[in-house]
Amino acid sequence: MIPAETKAVATRGYATHNKEAKFEPFEFARREVGPNDVLIDIEYCGICHTDIHQARAEWEPMIPAIYPMVPGHEIVGRVTQVGDKVTKFKVGDAAGIGCFIDSCGECPACLSGNEQFCFKGCAMSYNGTEMDRTTRTYGGYSNKYVINEDYALKVNATGDLSGVAPLLCAGITTYAPLKKWGVGPGKKVAVAGLGGLGHMGVKIAAAMGAEVTVLSTSPSKEADARGLGATGFLNTRDEAAVKAATGSFDLILDTIAAMHDYNLYLSLLGLNGVMVVVGAPSEPIPLNAFSLIGGNKVIAGSMIGGIAETQEMLDFCVEHGVTSDVEVITPDRIEEAYDRTVKSDVRYRFVIDMK
Ligand code: NAP
Ligand code: ZN
Repeated sequence: MIPAETKAVATRGYATHNKEAKFEPFEFARREVGPNDVLIDIEYCGICHTDIHQARAEWEPMIPAIYPMVPGHEIVGRVTQVGDKVTKFKVGDAAGIGCFIDSCGECPACLSGNEQFCFKGCAMSYNGTEMDRTTRTYGGYSNKYVINEDYALKVNATGDLSGVAPLLCAGITTYAPLKKWGVGPGKKVAVAGLGGLGHMGVKIAAAMGAEVTVLSTSPSKEADARGLGATGFLNTRDEAAVKAATGSFDLILDTIAAMHDYNLYLSLLGLNGVMVVVGAPSEPIPLNAFSLIGGNKVIAGSMIGGIAETQEMLDFCVEHGVTSDVEVITPDRIEEAYDRTVKSDVRYRFVIDMK
């Protein structure tokens, strides 16, 4: 319980207490709203596959799972209180929070707008600590968040915000590499894995003007893929179809959450083609050098995006009418959503209604 004399913000969320536990109601305190902070009443929080990897401790020992864990980094809501020095937000504004909530602000990464790679380690929205390295962070499967205004995003979308929440991770994670690698008219882009990230990748690449193909293990998703803006669909379990598509693409955005044959996907790239890996299976990738050497191919990585670029992505999505296709659930269905996501049975992002 929070002592009555503090102005700490009493918060209700859903936590898991070990890698096999079910989510349970969990009460905790957010910090008092400081001069540069905003208090956001959370309306929706997306379920990213990263939440599942972390809640189930799949990324250990690289990334330890700290319990109790309240996941959630695709957060949208309304500002209900602002500190004295806040200039970016006023009460009533829609606002978003992504994967991190603070960074040192001084290192070359922060100064170049890549706060996600802060040399001191940015403060992740959950399963981490504040920059003091002591205060635990809890994520958006909760009803309130207190955050420095510089790390909150302006949400200019109107109407229901459920389809906006996933932009805060799935949106920026796909937008940043598509932009970096010059996706636009005349480019042949393939998106591997049609889940939360993948469906945003298809929508954003199509909005950028590229010709988009989905590489999927789920033939039942073909009609959806075309509805999202893809003009091609390749079932990657159909060996003959994969062979026929050798050398077809300029860029592959690999959003696959489980181990797969990276060499097979690289074979689909044309000369000087680039495969950007954003999906993060826990095991190391077996890579054949010849998959890269033949055709001067590039394999690259990408992790979310900085604050300025996330804002740019949100504004791009408003301009192009891009939101996520979501299935809104109540918090008592988190496990069911996790199990369905792992089975690739997500169309295309579960979003928890935290209202
Ligand atoms: P998701 O909704 O579960 O989508 C992943 C998709 O991958 C599935 O829907 C499925 O699509 C495909 N897939 C699953 N198992 C497969 C297999 N064995 N072989 C081939 N394809 C398979 O997950 P998500 O939320 O989009 O996240 C995807 C990955 O990105 C996760 O590992 C997550 O941690 C990571 N991530 C990375 C960043 C970053 O900054 N780099 C940010 C967020 C998330 P089909 O049914 O179409 O085959
Ligand atoms: Zn995420």
